[in-house]
Amino acid sequence: MSNPLLDTAALPRFDAIRPEHVAPALDALLAEADAALEKATGPEVPADYDALSAVLDVATERLGRAWGAVSHLNAVADTPELRAAYGEALPRVTAFYTKVGADERLYGKYKAIAASGAALGPARRKALSNAIRDFVLSGAELQGEAKDRFAAIQARLAELGQAFSEHVLDATDRWGLVVTAAELDGVPEDVKAATAAAAQADGQEGHKLSLHMPVYLPLMQYARDRSLRERLYRAYVTRASDAGPIEQDNGAVMAEILALRREEAALLGYADYAEVSLVPKMAESPRQVQEFLLDLARRARPHAERDLAELREFARAELGIEDLQAWDFAYAAEKLKQARYAFSDNEVKQYFTESKVLAGLFRIIETLFEVRIRPDSAPVWHPDVRFFRIERDAPAGGDGAARLVGQFYLDPYARPGKRPGAWMDDVRGRWRRPDDGATQTPVAQLVCNFAAPVEADGARRPALLSHDDVTTLFHEFGHGLHHMLTQVDEIGVAGISGVEWDAVELPSQFMENFCWEWDVVRHMTAHVDSGEPLPRELFDKMLAAKNFQSGLQTLRQVELALFDMRLHADDGPGAPAVPEGVPRVQQVLDAVRREVSVWLPPAFNRFQHSFSHIFAGGYAAGYYSYKWAEVLSADAYEAFEEEGVFNPAVGRRYREAILEAGGSRPALESFKAFRGREPRIDALLRHQGMAG
Ligand SMILES: [Zn+2]
Repeated sequence: MSNPLLDTAALPRFDAIRPEHVAPALDALLAEADAALEKATGPEVPADYDALSAVLDVATERLGRAWGAVSHLNAVADTPELRAAYGEALPRVTAFYTKVGADERLYGKYKAIAASGAALGPARRKALSNAIRDFVLSGAELQGEAKDRFAAIQARLAELGQAFSEHVLDATDRWGLVVTAAELDGVPEDVKAATAAAAQADGQEGHKLSLHMPVYLPLMQYARDRSLRERLYRAYVTRASDAGPIEQDNGAVMAEILALRREEAALLGYADYAEVSLVPKMAESPRQVQEFLLDLARRARPHAERDLAELREFARAELGIEDLQAWDFAYAAEKLKQARYAFSDNEVKQYFTESKVLAGLFRIIETLFEVRIRPDSAPVWHPDVRFFRIERDAPAGGDGAARLVGQFYLDPYARPGKRPGAWMDDVRGRWRRPDDGATQTPVAQLVCNFAAPVEADGARRPALLSHDDVTTLFHEFGHGLHHMLTQVDEIGVAGISGVEWDAVELPSQFMENFCWEWDVVRHMTAHVDSGEPLPRELFDKMLAAKNFQSGLQTLRQVELALFDMRLHADDGPGAPAVPEGVPRVQQVLDAVRREVSVWLPPAFNRFQHSFSHIFAGGYAAGYYSYKWAEVLSADAYEAFEEEGVFNPAVGRRYREAILEAGGSRPALESFKAFRGREPRIDALLRHQGMAG
C-alpha cells in the first residue's frame, strides 16, 4: 500500500491523496526530517553549505512539498474529513519548523559557514544571511523559559490563523437566501442562471443567493431591490462576528492573535510587532510606512471627496436615493458609471471569454519573455483544473530540444469548499539539488474564483470574465512568472522565495497594466455570441472610466493599511483610553477611519472579522505592501510605456533584472538594475489620474 504523499519524486498525485493518508505520511516525513536535523547538526556533517543542504534541505523540502499538497487541497477541496486531518497535522508541522528555526546547533553551523570565509556565490550568500536573520527572528537567541514560550506562541498562532479562516469560510458558506426571479430585477442573466441552478441543486424553486463573490458582487452592483442589497450587505460585513453564531465569531481569535504577536515582539526585544514584521521587508520602519500612507492619503483626499460628492448627488438626482448607504455604493457607482461612460461591466464581460483571455495572456508572456506555453498533463483535484508547461527554445548549437522552464496548474472557478479569492502558490521551487545535482524546475498553482460556465438552453456557455477578473488573472500570473522564470539555483532565494514581502507584489501588479493596453485587449476578446472583438469605442470608455472613483479606492486601501500598521504598533504611553466594551481592534479601526476616510460605514460593520490577510494570511503589519509595491510596479511599467509595451528588449531586461533574479538580492537593487535609478511615486499617481 503506497501513500501518495510520500511520492515526492514526481508531481503531487492530487487525484489519489485522501484524508487518511495525511497522518501516516506526516509521521514518516516528520521522522525523516527530525533525523535529518539531528544528523545535520551533529559532528558528522561539517560546517559546509553543500554538505548541510544535502542532508537538511533535502528532507525539509520533501516534507514541505507533501505538506504543501495537503494545505492546497484543504484550500481548494475542503471536506470535513480533510479539514480534521489537516487540523490534526498542523500543530506537528508548525512545531517542527519552529524547532528548526530555533535550533541553536543549526544556527551555530550557519554562523560558522558565514565566518569561514568560504567562497559562496551571491545567491548563496543572500540565502545564508536570510537564514541567519530568520534564526534571530525565530527566537534562536532566546534561552530557557523564553525559548519555550516563543515556541508555544508560534504553535498557538498557527492554530488561531487556521480557526480565523475556517470561521470566515463557514460563515460565508452557511448563509443562503432563496428569492424569486422578480426580486432579482436588474441582475444579469448569467447570475440569475447560476443562482437558479444553485436552488435547483437544493431541490428548491427560485434563486439561491450566497455570499460568494460571483453572486455577491453582481447583486450589490445590479439588484434594484434596495432591501435585498441591504440584507446581503449586512450578512457579508458581519461574517464571523458577534452578529452570528458565537462559535464562528472571530472577535476573541483576533484579540488573542494580537496579544500573542505583541508578546512575541517583546521576547525578541522589539517595541511592537510592526517592528518585527518590517525586519525582513524593504520598508525601513513603521514610521516610514505610516508617512508613506499618510502622504498618499493627503494626495488622494481631494479626489475622494469629489468622488463621494458626485456619487451622492447622482444617487439623489437620478436614483431617488436621498441618504446614500453602504449597500447603495456599488449599485449607485455602477449606474453613475453607466450614465457617464455609457457601458456596464456586464456588457464588457460578454467579450472576455475565458479561452480568448488566456490565449491573449499567453501571447504577452511568450512575446516579452521569450518562452512558449503548452498544455501538459498531471493529476488534478477537480475536472475543471488544467495543467501547462513553459518552455524555451534550445540555445543555438545545442541538441535543438526545447528546455522546460516551469509548469503550472490553473484552477479558475468558484465552487463550494474552495476558499474565496485568488492566489499563486508554489508546488516546488527551482533548485540545483544537492543530492543528485539535477536542476529541479519550478511548479506553481494559480487559483482563481471566477464564475463557472453555466448551462443555458441545454448548452454550456463559455465562462465569461469581468474586466476585474481578467486583471486578477494577470496579477496572479505575475506572481507565477516570478516563481517560474527564475534562473536562481538556490531554492531559498529562487523566484518568489526570499523576496521582501513589500516588493513581492511588483511583478503581479506590473502584469495588471497590460489589461489596459488596446493592443493587448483587442486580441484577447471575442463576444460570447457574435465572436466580435471588443469595439475600440467601448475600450475607450473603459479607459476613461478606469480611474472612476480612484480617490475613494485609494483612501480605502490606505485605511486598511494604516489600520493594520497601527493595530500592530505599540499604542505608546499617550494612547487614548479604550471605552468600556469596545474591543481595541474596533477602536483602532474607528480612529483610522476618522483620520483618513471621507465616509464612515454603518456601526454594525465588522469587516475586520473577515480581514484574513492580516489575521490568517501573513500580511500582518504588511498590508501596506500592496500600495508600496504599486509604486514600484507602476514605475517599472513606465519603462515599457517609454520604449514600447511589446518591446522584447525591455521585456528581456525586466525578465533578467527582476523575474530571473528572484530573491537573490535586495528588491531595491533589482529595481535599480532594471530602471537605472530609485523608484518614484509619479507613475502611480499618473496611472490613477491623481497627478498634479
Ligand atoms: Zn498578489
